[in-house]
Amino acid sequence: MENIIYPENLNSSDIISFFTDKTFDIKKFLEKYEVYMPIQKHTDKVLLLWEDKNPKIADAVITSKKGIFIGVKVADCLPILLYDSTKKVIAAVHAGWRSTAKGILKNTLAKMYEIFNCQSKDIFIAMGPSIRGCCYEVGQEVIDALKAQTSSDEYILFLNGKKHIDLAIANKIQALSMGINIKNIWISKDCTYCNHERYSSYRFHGKGTGRQYGIIGMLEL
Ligand SMILES: [Zn+2]
Repeated sequence: MENIIYPENLNSSDIISFFTDKTFDIKKFLEKYEVYMPIQKHTDKVLLLWEDKNPKIADAVITSKKGIFIGVKVADCLPILLYDSTKKVIAAVHAGWRSTAKGILKNTLAKMYEIFNCQSKDIFIAMGPSIRGCCYEVGQEVIDALKAQTSSDEYILFLNGKKHIDLAIANKIQALSMGINIKNIWISKDCTYCNHERYSSYRFHGKGTGRQYGIIGMLEL
């Protein structure tokens, strides 16, 4: 489908994983499939999805359950999907600057290691369309907050005397610091602000804008 983006590194036959643009009909999808989405609040909270499927506040979800999708919705923020191909564990993360500054992806990986015995070499990470360094001007307080969890400055850009950040690169650095193989990380090239005709961009369209999604699920074989 043209409104779907398939990450190249999450193409195992026992999972379905994709990012969407803003034209994706989530209502139709929800009519057909069970999808768990947390109540996103820019936190560092990671939810483990077992039997209780009531929506709870969190910005990341991990599960080893099959037959249910997990997902996050975004508009400029970075959607991240994870898959451990050996332990058969999946995760979905909503990483805006606040959650990135709080280390949401690191927390997610730490839980995968701790609770599911995942090993870093088996984990594949896909980062969907988000506002990229070209368009994401921020204040010094955002950079100061991000520095606490992000070991290198590679995600900070100076454009026309303004400070910009790239959330995907900041999260890539955090993933590498947790032992993830760089070859296992895929990053969409699309900037949601540059491509605001295709994607919802909070910065471009404002508060009332729609959302796009990152969704992953394991099949019941
Ligand atoms: Zn851009």
